[in-house]
Amino acid sequence: MSPLRRCTRPACLRSAVATLTYVYADKTAVLGPLAVYAEPHSYDLCAEHAERLSAPKGWEVLRLQFDAAAAQAPSADDLEALADAVREAAHVSPPEEQTSTRRGGHLRVLGPQD
Ligand SMILES: [Zn+2]
Repeated sequence: MSPLRRCTRPACLRSAVATLTYVYADKTAVLGPLAVYAEPHSYDLCAEHAERLSAPKGWEVLRLQFDAAAAQAPSADDLEALADAVREAAHVSPPEEQTSTRRGGHLRVLGPQD
């Protein structure tokens, strides 16, 4: 199921084709393919607003290849690594915090399993 995603710009009713993510730590706005999950600091944009996007002063805009040009993207690995970096930077609390919510048990530090 994928609900229809609309451009987040006020008064814009077009459907979203791209997701803009702000990485505040790096002062970078990353424009890429429509994100699967809604994340904090991310905004869906239609083609027109994505095209006309301009970053605030002092910010850099990183445009990832997407849409029909996806086939000419420099390297899928690069894009994936970049997406991971952006996701890590955008997340406020790391996932490993989950284990600390268990109560009554013993917390043990396990070494990496080979
Ligand atoms: Zn729009």
